[in-house]
Amino acid sequence: MVDNLANLEERLPPAQLKKEVLILGGGFSGTKLASFLARHDVKVTVIERGEKQDSYFCLDDKTFLRSDLVPENVTFLPKSTLVKLSGHLGSFQATITTEGNRVVIEPSVIVIATGYSKKKESTFLPPGKTIFLEELAELLKESKAESLTFKGRKIDRISFIFDQVNDDIKIPFFLLFKTLLSLKSRFSCETYVFCKDVKVSFPSGERLYRKAREEGVLFFKYEDFPAFSDEREDFLITWEEKGRDPSLSVNLRSDLLVIPEHIFPGDASSLSAITGIPLNKGGYLMEDNPQFLSILTNRKGIYVLGGCHFPHLFTEVEKLAYATATEILKLFYGDTYHPSFPLAQVDPQKCALCYTCVRICPHKAVTIEKYAERNIYYIKGNSLSWYAAYIERMACFGCGICIAECPARAISFIEDEVKQ
Ligand code: SF4
Ligand code: SF4
Repeated sequence: MVDNLANLEERLPPAQLKKEVLILGGGFSGTKLASFLARHDVKVTVIERGEKQDSYFCLDDKTFLRSDLVPENVTFLPKSTLVKLSGHLGSFQATITTEGNRVVIEPSVIVIATGYSKKKESTFLPPGKTIFLEELAELLKESKAESLTFKGRKIDRISFIFDQVNDDIKIPFFLLFKTLLSLKSRFSCETYVFCKDVKVSFPSGERLYRKAREEGVLFFKYEDFPAFSDEREDFLITWEEKGRDPSLSVNLRSDLLVIPEHIFPGDASSLSAITGIPLNKGGYLMEDNPQFLSILTNRKGIYVLGGCHFPHLFTEVEKLAYATATEILKLFYGDTYHPSFPLAQVDPQKCALCYTCVRICPHKAVTIEKYAERNIYYIKGNSLSWYAAYIERMACFGCGICIAECPARAISFIEDEVKQ
């Protein structure tokens, strides 16, 4: 039995962490993080589901670099997906399919930086007179004409309708304000926005909203979704304004209707099944503690960044990528890693192999092991061999849940031994 702290530290030597990180997702957040880490001699592998031939890596906070010029210590694997994950902080085994082949890599740390997905769906489309917000933004970027046309028709009146957006996601409103200002600066069309509420709680949100109104954009708030009637040349919108007499409905004619794409969590649910990180109510990968750093998860050594966690604006993603890099560099600092106490341990001689701790550990720190083969310190000699629960100290958060639930009282905190 261990009886002092010196013995305990001898028994639990610090872990050596290889400076190797696997990033899932080669979009803005993944490449931004890769560039931060690459500058600190971390070996980074970025896997990306798509081809991303035109992917960009950022060299510093402003410059972007083409993918054929990525830093030497960054490996970029296009057409690649994570299919299986085992191990823990310092020694993950990630099975990846890459261009049809299956490979296993063993990073110390994993960052999930996959994005969100977008769906174009609407039940109220006046045919030929509706466009999605991102399509309009692209059209404005490409068009050099002096007047706005869509499918051969000149557009003088545009209505934006924001009904289906998730209340917490600010990206559609950011793009809306940018598009409105671009429209107003180039074309003299009348511009209306219909929404239940205007979301401005993001950096520059208030300023962009005020500017759009100063430029003549009219915002209408409604309770009940407006009615559309398709006319020959245009369409008619009828609605009741929020806070006004419901018997007074308002009519307005428009040539083009703009609706936002529906944003949803992409492949978060399959990544949740592979990594053991739970999903939140919206279907995104959940942070460990909403009051703390949002990049931390229930798994030590696995971080979430980017749209799989929440569709942030680019400026916010950049800050989170920096925070993630800082957390990872802290782990690698000094070449060795000491897991902090408290840490739980199993007495395999008492374990009844009921699997309760495996099932309830929120941090995936418990496995069932054949003890003699792992040469756990409890075994004297090699003659004994049996299966029992095993707690990986590199994965344990010391929450104590398993200690409270173990029916055989086989689990205790390691540091409690020191106090005895
Ligand atoms: S809960 Fe206790 S008895 Fe059950 S597997 Fe875990 S350590 Fe063994
Ligand atoms: S103390 Fe918490 S984190 Fe550690 S093994 Fe038990 S349940 Fe898991």
